[in-house]
Amino acid sequence: MRRQHSALAGRGWLGATGVILGIGACVPNQPAADAPAQTDPAAVAPPAPKPAVTAAPPPPPPAAPTPAVTKTGNVNVDRFLALWTDIHKLSNGYFSPEGIPYHSVETLLVEAPDYGHETTSEAYSYWVWLEATYGHVTKDWSFLDRAWTNLEYYIIPRPAEQPTNAAYNPAHPAAYAEEGDLPSQYPKPLSASVTVGADPIAAELKAAYGTSDVYGMHWLMDVDNWYGFGRSGDGTSHAALINTFQRGPQESVWETITQPTWENFKWGGPNGFLDIFQKGGSFARQWKYTAAPDADARAVQAVYWAKLWADEQGGNSAVDGVTKKAAKLGDFARYALFDKYFKKMGCTTPGCPTSTDYGSAHYLISWYYAWGGSAPPGGAWAWRIGSSHNHSGYQNPMAAWALANFGALKPASPNAARDWGTSLTRQVEFYRWLQAAEGGIAGGATNSWKGRYEAPPPGTKTFYGMAYDEAPVFVDPPSNEWFGWQVWSMERVAEYYYASGDLNAKVVLDKWIAWVRASSKLGKDGSYGIPSTLKWSGKPALDWNEQTRTFSPDKGYNSTLHVKVIDLTDDVGTTAALVQTLTFYAAKAHDKDAQKLARELLDRMWAKHRDDKGLSNPEAHTDHKRFKEALYVPPDWKGKMPNGDVIDASSTFLSIRSKYKDDPSWGKVQAFLDGGPAPKFTYHRFWAETQCALAYATYGWLFP
Ligand code: CA
Repeated sequence: MRRQHSALAGRGWLGATGVILGIGACVPNQPAADAPAQTDPAAVAPPAPKPAVTAAPPPPPPAAPTPAVTKTGNVNVDRFLALWTDIHKLSNGYFSPEGIPYHSVETLLVEAPDYGHETTSEAYSYWVWLEATYGHVTKDWSFLDRAWTNLEYYIIPRPAEQPTNAAYNPAHPAAYAEEGDLPSQYPKPLSASVTVGADPIAAELKAAYGTSDVYGMHWLMDVDNWYGFGRSGDGTSHAALINTFQRGPQESVWETITQPTWENFKWGGPNGFLDIFQKGGSFARQWKYTAAPDADARAVQAVYWAKLWADEQGGNSAVDGVTKKAAKLGDFARYALFDKYFKKMGCTTPGCPTSTDYGSAHYLISWYYAWGGSAPPGGAWAWRIGSSHNHSGYQNPMAAWALANFGALKPASPNAARDWGTSLTRQVEFYRWLQAAEGGIAGGATNSWKGRYEAPPPGTKTFYGMAYDEAPVFVDPPSNEWFGWQVWSMERVAEYYYASGDLNAKVVLDKWIAWVRASSKLGKDGSYGIPSTLKWSGKPALDWNEQTRTFSPDKGYNSTLHVKVIDLTDDVGTTAALVQTLTFYAAKAHDKDAQKLARELLDRMWAKHRDDKGLSNPEAHTDHKRFKEALYVPPDWKGKMPNGDVIDASSTFLSIRSKYKDDPSWGKVQAFLDGGPAPKFTYHRFWAETQCALAYATYGWLFP
């Protein structure tokens, strides 16, 4: 996935311009991209059909629920309850009629998702977090139960939607396809000459759960079926699972071609959308999903607190059930801890050694894992991949710690808690390796330079053999220029430090918090500013491994790696994530200055940005000029979107999404394209509103 401002995993969600303006947006996910389509000549006989639906749809959401507790006497907890009420009032537009949280209330939105009424695994994970906190405040756990039930029904592919997993062969997880630098370098061929390693966790997952199916969230959903792909290619059902990014680090959301996850050749060209991305002579009908594992980890993180809090209240059976499912989600999320093609660490050529065991584990939460297989009527085959690219913004030591150490969340697979324990240590080391002299956390590392297992430039520093990458996964815009990644990720480090007392985490936090405090501003007029756009230079000082690792709080550490804050923002979502980071840190380290900054930001946000749906600030979108941007479509390739929009070499972002012209907000974009001012939007993104609610609740809890 790629994202930029929101939670999604993907690549650039926000337009470069938006980022430069410090608009703040959110980021979505973009996961899965880059998972190649596959065909496998070793197909076996088709499986017996599975039932299309294995559970009844969840009940529709209540129209305007009133919290079980409405006044607590704690001003910040009361603000949480007010925001919770706003988010749940259906007429405010956060949820679909099915009770699915939209990425944003507003429909005209292009960042990681390419439409506001899509949703992401990120939004779902925030929803789980919101309801966990609601249970803490009110002792009503029914909303958490409702959220997980909805999540499981809609965004985890159902058994019939991943029908051929039984044919998966862990000794040959996938066929290799290299990644390109530019969309115009696609389609890419599958290369049988490049060897792929073995998947060391499939067997124990199958044994633990009695099924070959994967329990993971697909990252992107077309909630209202705006595109018309429908679910499993039926063209009509809502909650359609879709994908966008597939073509390397330069493919911004503005350059994507939206495609269905269930490819039955009904739309696109004769081979559906497959031959835009993959070169080949013949193509098979198939399904494919991509997880954005930071979202799965966030859901686990939230359920940790739910279980802890429910038990403090005397226990709750619904929470126990959700906890078991979260542990299962975390079990499968281990796929993200492995190299894309199960190559050994330190790979610098496509011919590098493969692994049959954990030699292919980098133990970091990488950008995606993906799985797919054949769709009827062909023979059965299936594939799985991890990801070689690791971004600091995806790491979640809190979830790793919980899966490794918290009894109720230990997954059923025998090696899972051990693997997450190794991941925990590795993640904390990763932050320290990447910490710039000023305190910010740099991009990440990859085991597959350029996505082709090339040799990185001479002098590139390494982390357990993987090459330093200033902007992992996407560069349009650069993936680590958004301050949101800093706060998303460091919030988890602060939470982990609060829960565990790990002093290595404190070394990283001490420096990071000092940097952010020095970089933020509180104006005399009630205004505030926190970092928005970051610029990176240099590289880590160390080749980091078990021999060189250090957490010594040396002032000269990483004097070779620098970050500069280019501009400030008062964006509510990132500010709220910063507040939570400051709050957990202040509570554990007894840091009065961090606490004061958190409180000031909370009060100022409330005074300045409260509106009738939550908290929001206006954003100017010069990136909307990219609505007219040409898409790369291979020469002579011609196809159609479900609504009849033609896809060919003269297509643009807008031309294959002509329905945007019917959007109620289209007029101001059109005026901008005609030479007028940049359109302004006041978005209510689900993740950002939830992050705000959580920030108030967290402060109210830890500083009552
Ligand atoms: Ca580009």
